[in-house]
Amino acid sequence: MTAGLQPGLVVELDIGVRRIVAPNASFMTGPGTNTYLLGNNEIAVLDPGPAIAAHIDRIVEVATAPIRWIVVTHTHPDHSPAARALAEKTGAQLIGRPAPDGPQQDKSFKPQRILEDGEELASDEFVLRAVHTPGHASNHLCYELMDRRWLFTGDHIMNGSTVVINPPDGNMNDYLASLRKVAAMDLCMLAPGHGELLDEPQRAAEWIIKHRLEREARVIDALALLGTATVEELVETVYADVGAFLHRVAQRSLLAHLIKLEEDGRAQRWVDTWTLV
Ligand SMILES: [Zn+2]
Repeated sequence: MTAGLQPGLVVELDIGVRRIVAPNASFMTGPGTNTYLLGNNEIAVLDPGPAIAAHIDRIVEVATAPIRWIVVTHTHPDHSPAARALAEKTGAQLIGRPAPDGPQQDKSFKPQRILEDGEELASDEFVLRAVHTPGHASNHLCYELMDRRWLFTGDHIMNGSTVVINPPDGNMNDYLASLRKVAAMDLCMLAPGHGELLDEPQRAAEWIIKHRLEREARVIDALALLGTATVEELVETVYADVGAFLHRVAQRSLLAHLIKLEEDGRAQRWVDTWTLV
């Protein structure tokens, strides 16, 4: 972990862009969730993180001006649950998209303003533009800091860990399309939900696309070898390069790859088994 990613430490990344890391480090969240504070006169908090009292207190302490907006990339439990308590403390407006049905969703997040793709939040100091990026989560928004050419990527692109695509809310075809959307943008910096800044946005997005398609090729090879197989059988072969302790999580992304192949007409499912078409 780099020094700037210690929980509670405030790092000024650029003028009017500060980062605080939540104390929720894990193998899924890396060093912890990045909470960003934008603006100096009026503040937008981007991804307040998990509902940990010490983190919420730290955000309030660090904010040297009124917090007017709480902006959320998506409603997984490490990104949005602090929003409600922070809004109660500050009166800030909640902005983002509501949680879809399903497990691992923060239903407590009730946005007062729901952003569609391309809609903007403007203050005297900055303009944030919502970029709908489904794939990791169907309601996922990245936020472009206009003029600066920064993109806050939430869990769409992380630094240092692989994004899990967990069906049915997670969808691999959508994820790849959303990565291509980011790769086509004119950006100079990615500010992820976990890990350090990424200063080669297009290259980062293209690398992930390449990595995912290589994994897909391994799925096809494994199915060709095994004929018919379950996800549990396939994971040993397809994720042989990944530690066995990660295989349970990897099974979710593997299922997402299989569903993509099914959507593409290249694989078919019969109950719990998969075969190539
Ligand atoms: Zn997430």
